[in-house]
Amino acid sequence: MKLIRLILQGFKSFADRTTIDFAEGMTVIVGPNGCGKSNISDAVRWVLGEQNVRNIRGQKAEDIIFSGSEKRKAKNAAMVSLILDNSGHELPLDTAEVSITRKIFRNGDSEFYINKRSCRLKDIQELLANTGIGKGSMVIIGQNQVDRILSARPEERRVIFEEVAGISKYRMKKVDGLRKLEKASANTERVLDLKAVME
Ligand code: ATP
Repeated sequence: MKLIRLILQGFKSFADRTTIDFAEGMTVIVGPNGCGKSNISDAVRWVLGEQNVRNIRGQKAEDIIFSGSEKRKAKNAAMVSLILDNSGHELPLDTAEVSITRKIFRNGDSEFYINKRSCRLKDIQELLANTGIGKGSMVIIGQNQVDRILSARPEERRVIFEEVAGISKYRMKKVDGLRKLEKASANTERVLDLKAVME
């Protein structure tokens, strides 16, 4: 799936609104050490639904919000938008472009949007789960990850294949379904108990 544009504001070292347009072909980001190259891939990983802040090199959620510098005040929120090419309708939405936006505030609140419509993180994860670019997919390979993939246990490697093959969406739904089933069983038991007491 082609990335069209990435917009960052208040995310890590990107205090001001910054737009990166991905042209046709390959995009290479170059710059001196510490200028924020990896922060860009962290932003992509985060907006695609990453929930573990350690996977984007933070310790706590607010580490991803611009923390200020000598000349600049810290920001109160971080926002990342990723615009995807949907002209081939890989995503089940009518629009030729799909924007996914994630915002976090210093007080811990979060907001999520698909095509500028408010949604839940789960909606973003479900939208992307079958595309190969979802959370946990191998679409971003960090410097230390190649080794980890090669030395992974078979069960761990299976998760990678399941994501790429588009099975993970159903695994998520299965977990949800089992949880509901458990709740329903507990409710049934309670009703039977009450019935027994009344008889
Ligand atoms: P290298 O080439 O060494 O891998 P890089 O270009 O990939 O470096 P990054 O690791 O993306 O650089 O960026 C590191 C910079 O981002 C550091 O200067 C760090 O201070 C800054 N940074 C990270 N989080 C924040 C934050 N919350 N607020 C402000 N600056 C931040």
